[in-house]
Amino acid sequence: MTYTPAEDRYERMTYNRCGKSGLKLPAISLGLWHNFGDDTPHALKQSIVRKAFDLGITHFDLANNYGPPGGSAELAFGEILKTDLAGHRDELVISSKAGYGMWPGPYGEWGSRKYLISSCDQSLRRLGLDYVDIFYSHRFDPDTPLEETCGALDHIVRSGRALYVGLSSYNSRRTREAVEILKSLGTPCLIHQPSYSMINRWIEEDGLIDTLEELGIGSIVFSPLAQGMLTSKYLGGIPDESRAAQDKSLNRDFLNERNVENIRKLNAIAERRGQTLAQMALAWVLRGDRITTALIGASKPSQVEDCVKALEKRDFTADELAEIDIYARD
Ligand code: NDP
Repeated sequence: MTYTPAEDRYERMTYNRCGKSGLKLPAISLGLWHNFGDDTPHALKQSIVRKAFDLGITHFDLANNYGPPGGSAELAFGEILKTDLAGHRDELVISSKAGYGMWPGPYGEWGSRKYLISSCDQSLRRLGLDYVDIFYSHRFDPDTPLEETCGALDHIVRSGRALYVGLSSYNSRRTREAVEILKSLGTPCLIHQPSYSMINRWIEEDGLIDTLEELGIGSIVFSPLAQGMLTSKYLGGIPDESRAAQDKSLNRDFLNERNVENIRKLNAIAERRGQTLAQMALAWVLRGDRITTALIGASKPSQVEDCVKALEKRDFTADELAEIDIYARD
């Protein structure tokens, strides 16, 4: 069926400036790590992307290895771009990354110039695009000089393969070093993609969140729902269709009695606020305007809808924040 995007989509979303750049990103972005591989029906993937775009989500996050198998999420998204969003390319911010294992041999992972540039070319072919909006170094490579990794990112922009570059999961120290090199090359770092949630606060402890603010770099935080743990879905056991049941990246051991009891307490706080737990978890990472966008995943369109409603109540009282800290610690 032909898709016509909702006309009021830009009234449903808040757009935040990405650091000190000229680019604005939606407060909620959609990632295609899970649920976009060959194990998910194409019609479901299509309905999730359509729902997101209808709600004003303009930013879609990918990586070379998303699937399974690696590469299939980019292929699926490329297909959706062609069939559904062909006339809307300039309304979209599409990102991809390279850093984790993608093909066999010494050139299929980490941060060499050889790997990053060829992987970017492969991603463009799978997506059917001339360029991505943001291209990331997916992880810091301890064995490759940062000058080489950053030089490759700079080349990717100068050769027209990407408009901006970003770093993912680099700690504060490595971020400072990479940002300095990128600046000297004339390709400023636009954005950083770390993990962050009520139960994963490493960016506060490491100082990365302060560093990004100081350097004027935007932030897109992944797994803000702790892969689904910070929702009400696991309060009554492990549902069959959930990520934890399917033996994907969420380890069932995290869902032990003590953690589930804490999640129950957090759920009660969310209920008092008139929100779902997912909405409260997203409002929490976005509190205080230090984070540009929360990067969610979804296994069905209704989850995207639920998550976007988080923007209706983003403020917290000091008492609520203190109570959350009792039940949600790293
Ligand atoms: P989340 O923490 O948002 O977890 C998503 C999962 O939570 C969904 O698959 C679904 O689980 C559940 N969920 C989402 N919304 C709701 C809701 N409203 N109610 C109930 N359950 C809900 O993020 P992800 O871990 O999926 O990561 C998001 C994105 O971040 C990725 O797609 C990727 O783009 C990026 N990422 C980047 C990494 C990096 O190294 N840079 C690493 C990991 C992720 P279920 O499937 O069980 O229904």
